[in-house]
Amino acid sequence: MSEDRLSVTDHSRDSAGLRYVYPVVSRRAGGVSIGINLNPNNACNWRCIYCQVPELIRGTAPPVDLALLEKELDGFLHELQHGDFMRRVPPEARRINDIALSGNGEPTSAQEFAEVIELIARYKPAGLKLVLITNGSLMQRDSVQQGLRRMAQLDGEVWFKLDRASEAGMALVNDTRLTMDRVSQNLTTAISCCPNTWLQTCWFALDGAAPGAQDEDDYVDFLKGLLRGGIRPQGVLLYGLARPSMQPEAARLSALPAEWLEAFGARIRALGIEVRVSA
Ligand code: SF4
Repeated sequence: MSEDRLSVTDHSRDSAGLRYVYPVVSRRAGGVSIGINLNPNNACNWRCIYCQVPELIRGTAPPVDLALLEKELDGFLHELQHGDFMRRVPPEARRINDIALSGNGEPTSAQEFAEVIELIARYKPAGLKLVLITNGSLMQRDSVQQGLRRMAQLDGEVWFKLDRASEAGMALVNDTRLTMDRVSQNLTTAISCCPNTWLQTCWFALDGAAPGAQDEDDYVDFLKGLLRGGIRPQGVLLYGLARPSMQPEAARLSALPAEWLEAFGARIRALGIEVRVSA
């Protein structure tokens, strides 16, 4: 990794020169996140219009070379703890924040997902947070449920994508066709396997228009329905547009004023659900 590529927040997946493991240095989060990218082929089963993956293609993760992943994770953890890497990091970010399964596509689309979590379990230092960032669409798979149950034993956290709570909204923003019943089932499965499941929601303007009152109502009604059914996510991570989209729609997207995100967040909080807003 060259020094000049390591900016304060470096999200480039290849900055450590590895296939699966990449560092994200964040001054805001005050640490280094160890990213695990199971989709080096830039393939996802969704196509969110705000997606930051360049040359995104529709598809699934290729077979995971578990031996290589193990070598990279072990080696990178060792480098972070005993090597030179931290000397190039701003002093206030010289600690390991978490291990995050995220990357250039949907991590749970890897057939070896459960084995990957097992592997992480063998190397994860005690107390280090483990996060799965997922679109939640493959929760019906046994291997995904097995992986999530193992994550729960490791005090892991799931961030489950819910950008819009209507079929039309999801088709528009995520370019996917799922019924809201299916989304609800997927979320219920995620929470039952790993109770520390958060919703992650990206809220932005399209063609200059903010999400409408109907979008907000759909979202709030969806949450109310969950709560009535005894399903409670840990909370909602409400994001604005942090970084530019790499999709053809990029020029049509714009960030909303922070107060708008806060106002929507307040509606969700009124349901008794924790909300963390990042404008
Ligand atoms: S689910 Fe994630 S990786 Fe897949 S298209 Fe959406 S933002 Fe990109």
